[in-house]
Amino acid sequence: MAEAKNWALFLDIDGTLLDLAAKPDLVVVPAELPGVLAALTAHLGGALALISGRTLSDIDWLFPGGGDAAGSHGAEWRRAGMVKASAAVGPELHALAAGAETLPGILVERKPLAVALHYRDAPQLAAQVRGLAHNAVAAAPVALRVLEGKSVIEVVPANADKGAAISRFMTCPPFAGRCPVFIGDDVTDESGFSAVNRLGGRSIHVGGNIDSVASRKIASPTAVRRWLAGVERKLRGHAHGQS
Ligand SMILES: [Mg+2]
Repeated sequence: MAEAKNWALFLDIDGTLLDLAAKPDLVVVPAELPGVLAALTAHLGGALALISGRTLSDIDWLFPGGGDAAGSHGAEWRRAGMVKASAAVGPELHALAAGAETLPGILVERKPLAVALHYRDAPQLAAQVRGLAHNAVAAAPVALRVLEGKSVIEVVPANADKGAAISRFMTCPPFAGRCPVFIGDDVTDESGFSAVNRLGGRSIHVGGNIDSVASRKIASPTAVRRWLAGVERKLRGHAHGQS
């Protein structure tokens, strides 16, 4: 395993860096976290990216600064300030969103490239929501797929995939040639774990409640933040102590 100073760090946000909340806009960014991430980014020569199901604009609301990131499960991708994105969603997803909004307890999140249907407050409607999502995919003239996460069913572009997003970063400076490390918590992170496993990196799964292809486990977002702060201290010591 490569030394930490040679890592490329890929971090999921919800359930990994941040504790999950009842709704996506109720998450809390701990005061010290942005500073730790900024310092890690500097120690790693810029090789740190956030890899989230959230949109890029949502990522920037939580972590301002326009850093490298993949949003919407990789359908949006930004490196060195340059954004690339899949085509915006068509009318079939607007129809899906409108249909789901009639279901009590379902929180509909309209994204530029996807629609997320959160059923945390109405778990009895999960099968119905799943049916609506699959119908929308079948009816769409463009390639879409259903992506399931914790209490959420999403319809995303078929090419949206966290593993593909990480692999793409790894072909570009300053990521290329480094050892990829990806931390995530959900089934939507499994493609990312597979990608770093293939590249000889380190895959770390947060929490222990689902089967994962990740090679390591860590207990909770609190433990992730503590671990990252420890890596940052170690790299800072390396930068200052040995020259
Ligand atoms: Mg997550």
